[in-house]
Amino acid sequence: MSVYENTKLILENIGSTTLVCITKTIEPERINEAIRAGATIIGENRVQEYEDKRDDILPCETHLTGHLQTNKVKKAVRLFDVIQSIDSLKLIRNIDRRARDIGKVQRVYLQVNIGSEPQKQGFEPDEIKNAIKEIRSLRNVRVEGLMCIPPFVPPEQTRAYFRKMKALFDEMKQENRDNIDIRTLSMGMSSDYMIAIEEGATMVRVGSAIFGKRKY
Ligand SMILES: *Cc1c(COP(=O)(O)O)cnc(C)c1O
Repeated sequence: MSVYENTKLILENIGSTTLVCITKTIEPERINEAIRAGATIIGENRVQEYEDKRDDILPCETHLTGHLQTNKVKKAVRLFDVIQSIDSLKLIRNIDRRARDIGKVQRVYLQVNIGSEPQKQGFEPDEIKNAIKEIRSLRNVRVEGLMCIPPFVPPEQTRAYFRKMKALFDEMKQENRDNIDIRTLSMGMSSDYMIAIEEGATMVRVGSAIFGKRKY
């Protein structure tokens, strides 16, 4: 099946859920095939890789889904509509400062380490409420969602993590006012996006099911 057909099929399967087409390592030509098939958002993991490809990619919304290093914040704020990978207060304060410099309000999601894995990026689930309290005073960021990458386990075992995320999402929506406007729950990838949707995802991030296995 072609990228075009894969994208069409996934869009059909997910209905009203938002698709982010994960395009790391994928050439612009193939990314454009997905956009022509109806994908409206792409997600990249590296600032530099996206900057190198962007002139050849058709108009679309762009999300950063990989860890953002301090020295790339300025560029990321210039290039991305949404930064999904906010994993510390230090990072979001830095983003707020860079966004203020260029008169932008940067849309962001908070990344949750839902499996509390020591090696993984993200806020601990029980840190999110306090993080939101700290972020409320920042004028140049708007928190629009939560994102997670659950532990690497067989697809059906991710369900429990998705369920936990949904509960956290519903709880944190109660905090919505000022620059906190949580309405997107970004979870589910190629192997488990239908499970994520069953558990309440409003956005899924799909790469290899569209483009095939990645070659690094
Ligand atoms: C690579 C990646 C995905 C997509 O993974 P697939 O299994 O190829 O669908 C989703 N989210 C993030 C953050 C990723 O890095």
